[in-house]
Parts: sequence; C-alpha cells; structure tokens
Amino acid sequence: MTANAITNALTIDVEDYFQVSAFAPHIARDEWDSKECRVERNVARILELLDHAQVKATFFTLGWIAERYPQLIRRIVQEGHELASHGYGHERASDQNWDSFFTDVNLAKILLEDLTGVEVRGYRAPSFSIGKDNQWAFDCLLKAGYRYSSSIYPIAHDHYGMPDAPRFAYEARPGLLEIPVTTLRLLGRNFPSSGGGYFRLLPYALSRWMLRRVNQGDGEAGIFYFHPWEIDVDQPRVKGVGAKTRFRHYVNIDRVEGRLKRLLDDFKWGRMDDVFLRRKIAQPQARAALA
Ligand SMILES: [Zn+2]
Repeated sequence: MTANAITNALTIDVEDYFQVSAFAPHIARDEWDSKECRVERNVARILELLDHAQVKATFFTLGWIAERYPQLIRRIVQEGHELASHGYGHERASDQNWDSFFTDVNLAKILLEDLTGVEVRGYRAPSFSIGKDNQWAFDCLLKAGYRYSSSIYPIAHDHYGMPDAPRFAYEARPGLLEIPVTTLRLLGRNFPSSGGGYFRLLPYALSRWMLRRVNQGDGEAGIFYFHPWEIDVDQPRVKGVGAKTRFRHYVNIDRVEGRLKRLLDDFKWGRMDDVFLRRKIAQPQARAALA
C-alpha cells in the first residue's frame, strides 16, 4: 500500500445466515424468529477486526436485524462507521412492486434513523436485485430520501446482474447515485471482483490482483462486500439445500477471516459516503444509456 493509494469502500451486508436469498426456498420468513441468531457475535467480531486495522466501513443493515439488536446498531455508529440500509425484510427488489418496495426501503430507513439519530443515505438491494427491468426502484429510493444505492452488479449471473450497466458510479436519478459493485473488465467481459462468494472461492492473490487492476488500471475506487455469516465457521448448517447452494454458501468459510485481515492491510479502506459522496460524478453518457 502506498501513501497516495486510492481509498476503496469496505461494506458489510448485515443479515443472518438464515436470511440469505438462496435459502429462501428452505426457510420460511415466519421461521426466522425461531432460528439461532448469530449476527450479533459476528458483527462484534467484525468491529474488532476493523478497530484493529483502524478502518471505517459501511454497514448495509436489515431493518429486521436492527429491530432486534438496537445496541449493536448503535455501536456501529458509535465506532465511526456508516450505517446504511439493506431494506427491511430482505426481499429481492425484482420480486416486488413499486408499493411494496417503497414500503420496505422507507421503513428500514426510518427505523435505522430512529435508533441512531443519524441520517441513513445509502441503500443496497438484497442480492443486487436492481437491474434493467426494475429501474423504477431508483424512484422509490429517491422518494424515501436516499442519496445513493449500491445495488447493481454489472455481470451475468444466474440470480442477478446487469452486464451492460455502467461499471462505476453514475447518477441514476438527479440526486441519487448508483455505485455498482466492482468488476474487472477483461477480454470484453466483466468479472466479479468485489468479494462475497468469489472472495471465498478464488485464491486471495487473485482477488488482490483484480482489485489492484481496478485501482491502477481504471484509476477507480473499488467496493468490497461480505456478510457477517461469512466469518462464522460454527453457524448451524441449513438442511435440505442443493449441492450448488451448499457449495456457494459454505466454501472456504474457514479462510475468510485470515483473508480479510490481509485485505485490510493490502489496501486503503473507507466508508461508502466518504469515498463516493464527496466527489463530483458526472457521466452523462451513462445516464443516457439508462434513460
Ligand atoms: Zn443480503
């Protein structure tokens, strides 16, 4: 890391293992309250890691979690991190209509703000579920008072993605930035380079190389994301899930904490609002492409 290195944004999607979209067919929503919650201890561990590395991050937090763990949410803010919204109930934006999506994102924002007294400016859709077919979601976010979203993944994937979306921050609506999660452009394709399952699957050196290419080749800040359950080796195993889902959820979980420590050391990190809201972003061609 050099003194003038680009600051990347570190983000955590605060939800528990039983709320993961891929488990939705196996765990009904009304069963959530009966599950052993692990999020509190996992977020506490993440806060320790960040404190040790002296890194501030953005926590995209579910309203459902905030209601049950208000002390944890206040601690995130007290320790200097950005509190942002992951919606209330972790329903994909692409499965909702205008009214239900607005209700969900509005409720989450009010809840998080009431708990902490701090303005919540950022939103991330569950499973990056804003794409070309539901751009109206940006109107809901603007109406609810959000300033930015980080909900588009410009890749082709079986559960999400908008491969032809801009790769870097752009004004989705006047006053609302979309800050897509990071991809590496290689051989005419976008490759996922921002954490999650790919960070667990790929060797650390490859993840590091991709983020460096974005910083040095594109000259842009990257976004890295992970979930509290991704550092939780002892989480209860969800039964009855298919081989692909099981592999994606559990692969290399025992390696994540060690890799995160290296990642925190190898790059400069900050909160989404500090990295992206402080600079002027003007990309009229990107806006036109989505209009
Ligand atoms: Zn999520």
